[in-house]
Amino acid sequence: MTESKHFYQTFQPTHYNVYIDINRATKQISGTSTITGDAKEPTISVHEKYMTISSVTADGTDVPFTLDEAAEGLHIDLGKTGETTVAITYTAPLTDSMMGIYPSYYDLNGEKKQIIGTQFETTAARQAFPCVDEPEAKATFDLAIKFDEQPGETILSNMPEVKTENGVHYFDTTKKMSSYLIAFAFGDLQKKVTKTKSGVEVGVFATKAHQANELDFALDIAKRSIEFYEDFYQTPYPLPHSWQLALPDFSAGAMENWGLVTYREAYLLLDPANTALDMKQRVATVIAHELAHQWFGDLVTMKWWDDLWLNESFANMMEYVAIDAIEPDWHIWETFQTSDAPMALQRDATDGVQSVHVQVEDPAEIDALFDSAIVYAKGARMLVMARALVGDDALRKGLKAYFEAHQYNNAKGADLWAALGEASGMDVGSIMNTWLEQPGYPVVTAAVENGQLTLKQTQFFVGEGQDEGRQWKIPLNSNYAAAPAIFEDQTVTLGNYAELRQAAGEPFRVNVGNNSHFIVKYDDALLTDILDHVADLDAISQLQVLQDLRLLADGRQISYATVVPLLARFADNPATVVNAALYRIANNLKKFVTPDSAEEKALQTLFDRLSAQQVARLGWTPQATDTNDDQLTRPYVLNAALYAQNAQAIQDAHALFTANADHLGTLSADVRVLVLANEVKHFGTAELFDHLLAEYRTSTDPSYKADLAAAVTSTTDKALIAKLIEVFEDADTVKPQDLRAWYRGTLANNAAQQAAWDWLRNDWQWLEDTVGGDMEFTTYITVTAGVFHTPERFAEFKAFFEPKINTPGLTREIKMDTKVIGSRVSLIEDEKAAVNAAVAQAIQA
Ligand SMILES: [Zn+2]
Repeated sequence: MTESKHFYQTFQPTHYNVYIDINRATKQISGTSTITGDAKEPTISVHEKYMTISSVTADGTDVPFTLDEAAEGLHIDLGKTGETTVAITYTAPLTDSMMGIYPSYYDLNGEKKQIIGTQFETTAARQAFPCVDEPEAKATFDLAIKFDEQPGETILSNMPEVKTENGVHYFDTTKKMSSYLIAFAFGDLQKKVTKTKSGVEVGVFATKAHQANELDFALDIAKRSIEFYEDFYQTPYPLPHSWQLALPDFSAGAMENWGLVTYREAYLLLDPANTALDMKQRVATVIAHELAHQWFGDLVTMKWWDDLWLNESFANMMEYVAIDAIEPDWHIWETFQTSDAPMALQRDATDGVQSVHVQVEDPAEIDALFDSAIVYAKGARMLVMARALVGDDALRKGLKAYFEAHQYNNAKGADLWAALGEASGMDVGSIMNTWLEQPGYPVVTAAVENGQLTLKQTQFFVGEGQDEGRQWKIPLNSNYAAAPAIFEDQTVTLGNYAELRQAAGEPFRVNVGNNSHFIVKYDDALLTDILDHVADLDAISQLQVLQDLRLLADGRQISYATVVPLLARFADNPATVVNAALYRIANNLKKFVTPDSAEEKALQTLFDRLSAQQVARLGWTPQATDTNDDQLTRPYVLNAALYAQNAQAIQDAHALFTANADHLGTLSADVRVLVLANEVKHFGTAELFDHLLAEYRTSTDPSYKADLAAAVTSTTDKALIAKLIEVFEDADTVKPQDLRAWYRGTLANNAAQQAAWDWLRNDWQWLEDTVGGDMEFTTYITVTAGVFHTPERFAEFKAFFEPKINTPGLTREIKMDTKVIGSRVSLIEDEKAAVNAAVAQAIQA
């Protein structure tokens, strides 16, 4: 890619005085951005987007300027270089785009209210005030904000407020920081505050539509996370406060603005009395992620967006490191194994996937970088490998040095590797760059050839892939000492297998712990040896056996038909990680059967057999004696029993519904979604549908709302499906931020799929207008590709999306998802008969 010119090369700001006046009634923003900096050229460039510029002065004198819409900025003729103060006066509209400065809507006791908040990452600060909107352009900021203020309203920003004069709120000067991390918000808010051991003020803020105790969990996790990071990083939290703010409308999950982190309500607020453990863990890891960024991302920032992974991969690893330290009983790394690891392994197996480190210039392409499976999950796995290599002492020492060297400044990936290399005495960069710069990952084939135990690495693909002979430096983590620590050649021979096996006394394995980013294909003899001793393996290792078999089957290296007979031997395992891997395979089998066929009936019988014992053991009602595994496993097995049409399970769920019909929100959150969806599917009426929809509109509990959405989207009634599609575009019912879950639920429902797919195609323009500026827009394509598996849908998908392939930001996603569906369709066509025969065989046993 040609290097386009960054505005920072023309003008290097040191300080901003930003004044913004926001009028909610007229939906207008007006302001002046006064920027002092060093002009490197006589014509400088400053970003702005969607603004009307009324004047530009340099050192107090009007100067000529030209607007450049394509570059999202203006060029200002200074006629000189060197230290200059530029003042730009402007107006801009306040729009409902969830980007820049925007309103969030909510109801309080029947009254419609709003909070104004901000979302600037990646390139939307330029919609709020003219600035050099590039991460490298760090400066200090004095923010002054006026708005149509009502009594009792609160305003928050990165720094504490220092004074109010004539209705203008003035905030303390920030530290040197990037524009995309500036934030402010105002409205009628409630709060809970506390202090860390070191004196940092920590607060949680939300609308008054929530119960006060919904803020407690977040406050506790935020406080303890900051205390953990101050110790782990050996670097004090750099600001006086750390505010966490829940916004009713929010496009991403959360945003790490320095000192004022913003969240989707679902990822900050929860009912302490009735929230499922996995949701609590989710909220805790999101908070820990954003707070990890306060140092990694905010104090030290990537120089350019190509190193986005430095921010995100790191925060994604640290969220687990932190939560594991402050809530050790949760075994949170198990969640990493059931969410991040499979997500990364699946996506990274499709040819055409981005590497973790990507060259990028166009703003639309920058947003498309935020591929959660790659920049977050794969990047985190990469750093987990690095952490395992260097150890925690060197990691902490290296980080401390990294923060000292680059604080209030920027860094590149090489700077991190250098710091970790220095601290550990290892060439970390040369190992890690093979993972960072190359897309994809290897499958290591382990085989006994002529009596010799041999390993070979090749790139693993699901679907067609172009083998370019890529090689990785693979931390092998074998249980046999004969295996090298780092496997970097194409093949390696470990020695005489019979002797090695004899000496070790256990089956040969690599990637013990499942922390390196590769999968293993054992030959039949080695795999049989492992399976014969599978009961001796810990839960993660059992998960790994299932995970690798599933991927090998997706990649056509083995057949799903050979995996089916193995499932039963894992079915009674109490560990959640094993159940997660088991049901991931079982659920994949659903795509091989036609609705209402004999094959579907057989598969349902298989699900019944797999789940029966655990359903009997765990039941529908959480017990005080439940372990974490019990709590987390229960939904997997009950869901399986319901798919199996198990009459007892259907009746049990119905009985729970009936007993709680007047207060459905208080149904145990662990099983609530299953109870509600069961009721809609088997006992559904128009009245029930309307009642659940009304509950959705009035409830403020995000996890109850998610359950209600999942329930109503599972209706099989034609008239109700039509009603469902109608509410997609009714923002008073379904907020645009939540629409994707509704779309996914409806599309995955066989009875409603046609309606959902027609809606997407007919109203694509509406969707683009509504959430197109949002970095989650492309995931509507991903969600569609996750469901489709027939040749007919594949043809329709191509017919609709191929003409859009050159849309900036969509190109990679359309190409990848076309491959994803295509490979799935041919897998199913080729193996359908064999897989269904294997299922039939398994239920005979
Ligand atoms: Zn992040």
